[in-house]
Amino acid sequence: MDLKSMTLPELEDYMESIGEKKFRGKQLYEWMHKHLVFSLEEMNNIPKKLKEKIETKSEIYGVKLADCFVSKLDGTRKYLFELHDGNIIESVLMKYKHGNSVCISSQAGCRMGCRFCASTLGGLDRNLEPSEMLSQIYYIQKDIGERISNVVMMGTGEPLDNFENVLRFLELITSEEGLHISQRNLTISTCGIVPKIKELARKRLQITLAISLHSPNDEMRKELMPIANKYSMDELLDACRYYFKETNRRMTFEYSLVAGMNDQPEHAMQLCKRLKGFPCHVNLIPVNPIKERDFKQSLPESVSGFKKILEKNRVNVTIRREMGADINAACGQLRRKKLQSVR
Ligand code: SAH
Repeated sequence: MDLKSMTLPELEDYMESIGEKKFRGKQLYEWMHKHLVFSLEEMNNIPKKLKEKIETKSEIYGVKLADCFVSKLDGTRKYLFELHDGNIIESVLMKYKHGNSVCISSQAGCRMGCRFCASTLGGLDRNLEPSEMLSQIYYIQKDIGERISNVVMMGTGEPLDNFENVLRFLELITSEEGLHISQRNLTISTCGIVPKIKELARKRLQITLAISLHSPNDEMRKELMPIANKYSMDELLDACRYYFKETNRRMTFEYSLVAGMNDQPEHAMQLCKRLKGFPCHVNLIPVNPIKERDFKQSLPESVSGFKKILEKNRVNVTIRREMGADINAACGQLRRKKLQSVR
């Protein structure tokens, strides 16, 4: 029994099933999801007897700090957390004028195999439980003593490859008795698992969906992302149109620019053709080079040239601002370094 992954009604039913009063469920829920405590000991209105009973039947999964790096430039913090079974994950806190945003991991490792990504080099270790996704946010909110207002699932892992747990996580993080973060302040990023995008669309949530596109055509996308062998860009964009139709939410397309590969003017033109008239926003990200692969970051002039072509064709576009440049280790590299040092 993973108590922190249970919804309030489930927790209430659970209390009744072990012969306790229903309201104990709400007390437990609020301790975990509102007061953000990580253990039963801290819950001072729960009788000792009940704590002992709960302890024999269930767990409260959290995260343990393994390392933390703080940027002197902008206050960005990178956290390495250890899970109860020794797995390591990473999360990032970014401070913006509009609020505090946390980037969380949805899996320990990843099996999607994107060529430029450090998180997938060691494959997938396991899915994270909803409680473990929540605990990344809870830990960080307590650590900085300020409210977290936005969450992006852009850390390690493919959220739609851990679909049920991610849905449950969304339910818990938006619950009124918990942190009550609004759906509009949540973003899920996916490499493009088409059937799952459609399934998510049918849930009609008001979250933002970000699609990792990174290429203007199938050929190039296949070279960068193995998932492109399974679903064509036409299929992917159809699923995106369906998502928009069901939710009325404008999507984000992420496009990492690799020097001399996908950053040329003709690629920008191709991209415009595909996205013209589509209710979307393109986020350009100069690729973070990883030492295991020979991908180089686009030059600033290529990035701004690419952006200009999109703007001329009326495709909404921004360049992602780099945060925490002084503690920068490209996506997934901190975790990888840590694993290599302990294994
Ligand atoms: N699996 C999800 C979310 C995790 S990665 C997805 O694929 O979207 C979050 C974003 O970072 C994705 O767009 C991913 O393609 C991108 N990314 C991964 N490694 C990168 C790197 N080295 N440089 C730039 N972007 C990278």
